[in-house]
Amino acid sequence: MTDIQQSKWHALTADEAITQLETTRDGLSQEQVSQRLSSCGPNKLPEAPQASTLARFLKQFANLLVIVLMVAGILTAFLQYWIDTAVIFAVVIVNALIGVVQEGKAEKAMDSIRQMLALKAAVIRNGKRRTVAGEELVPGDVVLLEAGDKVPADIRLLSSHSLAVQESLLTGESLPVEKGTSKVEEGAALGDRQCMAFSGTNVTSGQATGVVVATGAHTEIGRIGGMLSGVQKLTTPLVEQMDVLAKWITGFILTVAVILLVVGTLVLNQPFTELFLAVVGLSVAAIPEGLPAVLTITLAVGVQAMAKRSAIVRVLPAIETLGSVSVICSDKTGTFTRNEMMVVSVQTAANDYDVDGEGYAPIGDVLFNDKPIHTAEQPLLQKVARACALCNDAEIHHRDDNWSFEGDPMEAALVSFASKATFDEGEDFKARWRRTDVLPFDSTTQYMATLNHDHNGHGIILVKGAPEVVLKLCRVQQTAQGEEQSIDLTAWLDKAEALARKGQRVLAVASRSVPADHTVLSATDLQDSLCLLGLVGLIDPPRQEAISAVQTCLNARIQVKMITGDHAVTAQAIGKQLGLTHTDKVLTGTELDALSDDQLKEAVQHTDVFARTTPEHKLRLVMALQSLGLTVSMTGDGVNDAPSLKRADAGVAMGLKGSEAAKEAAEVVLADDNFASIAAAVEQGRTVYANIKKVVSWTLPTNAGEALTIIVALLAGLPYPITPVQILWVNMITAVTLGMALAFEPTDAATMKKPPRPRGQALIQPALVWQIMLVGTLFFLAVFGIYQYAIKAGHDVEYARTLAMNMLVGLEIFYLFFVRTMNLRSISLAGVKGTKVVWSAVGVVVVAQLAISYIPILQTVFGTHSPSLIDNLVIVLTGFALLIVLEIEKVVRLTLYQRKR
Ligand code: ADP
Ligand code: MG
Repeated sequence: MTDIQQSKWHALTADEAITQLETTRDGLSQEQVSQRLSSCGPNKLPEAPQASTLARFLKQFANLLVIVLMVAGILTAFLQYWIDTAVIFAVVIVNALIGVVQEGKAEKAMDSIRQMLALKAAVIRNGKRRTVAGEELVPGDVVLLEAGDKVPADIRLLSSHSLAVQESLLTGESLPVEKGTSKVEEGAALGDRQCMAFSGTNVTSGQATGVVVATGAHTEIGRIGGMLSGVQKLTTPLVEQMDVLAKWITGFILTVAVILLVVGTLVLNQPFTELFLAVVGLSVAAIPEGLPAVLTITLAVGVQAMAKRSAIVRVLPAIETLGSVSVICSDKTGTFTRNEMMVVSVQTAANDYDVDGEGYAPIGDVLFNDKPIHTAEQPLLQKVARACALCNDAEIHHRDDNWSFEGDPMEAALVSFASKATFDEGEDFKARWRRTDVLPFDSTTQYMATLNHDHNGHGIILVKGAPEVVLKLCRVQQTAQGEEQSIDLTAWLDKAEALARKGQRVLAVASRSVPADHTVLSATDLQDSLCLLGLVGLIDPPRQEAISAVQTCLNARIQVKMITGDHAVTAQAIGKQLGLTHTDKVLTGTELDALSDDQLKEAVQHTDVFARTTPEHKLRLVMALQSLGLTVSMTGDGVNDAPSLKRADAGVAMGLKGSEAAKEAAEVVLADDNFASIAAAVEQGRTVYANIKKVVSWTLPTNAGEALTIIVALLAGLPYPITPVQILWVNMITAVTLGMALAFEPTDAATMKKPPRPRGQALIQPALVWQIMLVGTLFFLAVFGIYQYAIKAGHDVEYARTLAMNMLVGLEIFYLFFVRTMNLRSISLAGVKGTKVVWSAVGVVVVAQLAISYIPILQTVFGTHSPSLIDNLVIVLTGFALLIVLEIEKVVRLTLYQRKR
């Protein structure tokens, strides 16, 4: 097995490759797989090396805020204020350590999310089709490829039906190349090895099977040193905006500091050293050191919360976009509906049948006039059933007392129905009628066709697909006696519509015999030549949770639109069940084509259901909605959906049935393909935004209050109510506890009751500026007030400073509770009750403050004196008063605001 990875596979025939790899077209056995897996290793590219912990630690110092602090620390050392120096550096180091830990956590969160997006591959093992993780592939595995897949390993093709692969990754050639199965010269360049499909390239059309010849680092991409995609930067436009703001604040403060220093020494004649320390204190006070770290954590928490609700964020900025989504366009099948399909009716020229049963189990009866019938006596019904089973890529199997399937759910439902209807003959016909060629299902053509031959050389073309399309290809229809008679198209279309009105998805099934030498199938073979066998109706009930999610979205003033390839009448029936707003009129793809861009812009405002659409229509819809100023979320699963997913503000790909191409084009991947998960992601996006706003609303006023305290003291020539060291301490301890707690805030009740936030709205709104000024002033008054009160009462400066520092922390705690319920109209019990995270944070801060205030060693370091019980009580009461004042202000402001409107 060792030299397998080296061979020139493209120069061997398919059969030689199979022999060399000691495998068969039916794939490997489970033992062979485990054996090869241990000798060849997993099919994984080496990961990009991770930065060492030391490097990550050092990186934390490359930050303007930290540099300012360190310069201050060095200067205090020159002035021999050793305690200040020590504390400043302690804070810097602790900050860096926390930064490393946080970043590590955040990256781990992103990592585990990447794991969830790991590649899957469809393989044949032991003759059975199954889906396995891409990492578990071994040389000799037989793999199925279809449009939209990413090739999971290097593969020698065994069969190919117009397979085309985009290989620019390896060859730089941006056009897809056609693939085949015949061998090429040994010296052929990579781009000319047309019988090979290489790991990491994308299948753009067609279908193929192939045998894995190289995995992991032995693949072509592995040999040229391809790596797994690197680590994502943990940032979004909003957070970057905050970073810039923090820099501006720093610059502003430094300027003010220099002016104060100059004016203080030259004009006010204050001693330089003292002034310098005050200016250091000011810088420390006003600079929001903790903000960037807390924002990063807020994002990471958001990403994890979304993942928990089955929405996997591929690119971080999407979190923000999701929060401002104002219209969600979603597929129907599997997203609004359960994608648990079952055939319930069959109609032939002779009879109308019902089918019963449950799920995918091939157990149940075919009924005629409500009575089970003996299917062997219904040859036309059986022909429909066999066509359904042969023109089909799905498999059902019985595992752990459960019927499950591989492949497309609708096709699986057809397999199950076929077993019910051909019960007497078993699955013999499948072995008898081997597939020679196929036109795979494509949402543009809306049908699938196969060409099958039996051992005696009889050929047959089988077609299944959307009734309007398939009926157009039919020339005749088949009678119960197996004869052909002229077809009544309108009658069949009426029948199809009657089924659709009941919410059923309808397929037409047709066939045609061909001579033995007809072995290549093309679309022209179907033209006006088919014989209709019958119609099949399937049900796929709406998901219960989708119905309530639609309601949630509508309450949040988010429009919901259903875009489906299904029949207009079926779509309308489902749309009504879901409670969409405009279901009276359905716009079909054909109607849509006839509209100009302006007409479409008008129409999308009163239409929620779009039927018989192709992926190109999705793109036009996205653009029409965007031109109305809406922030659009669009779902997709196929290769052709990539353009509309890319174009949408928040592209959402299906994780289960979606192609790799769609996933790569999307910002978000749904682990469960469920509409409710999109709604949950939007809710989570809004929560993240609200929490970022809370963090900022909580941090900035505190800094403003501290700065004001120092500036006023300085200008008045008074001692500073709080020393720089104390401010540094307060900022650090509160940022990592109280500030961090805000990152974990759950979604509040108001989140999904408000209209979406306009896209690109700046975070710092006038209301926030007002709040910063108001709260900053209140903080200043309280801190300055208690300091003066203590001095007046005859206490020494250390004692007064201890009170001032504790006051600052006390206010921050109470203010935290205000910020938590900032978006709600009035204070509520639930708001005050808080969460476990909030109370643990408060607990830690209180204990830390008590330690600083009462433990002798810390008293020396921080220059504190033990405060009396009464004074502590005063602090708590002031904090409470702050909360009351802010609540009253909020109610008054909101009332005035509402009256003004
Ligand atoms: P949807 O939005 O419901 O997923 P699709 O684009 O998948 O719509 O399908 C559109 C139509 O094409 C269906 O209503 C059905 O008539 C037909 N169709 C879907 N899947 C298949 C298939 N595997 N084989 C044949 N026809 C299909
Ligand atoms: Mg579909």
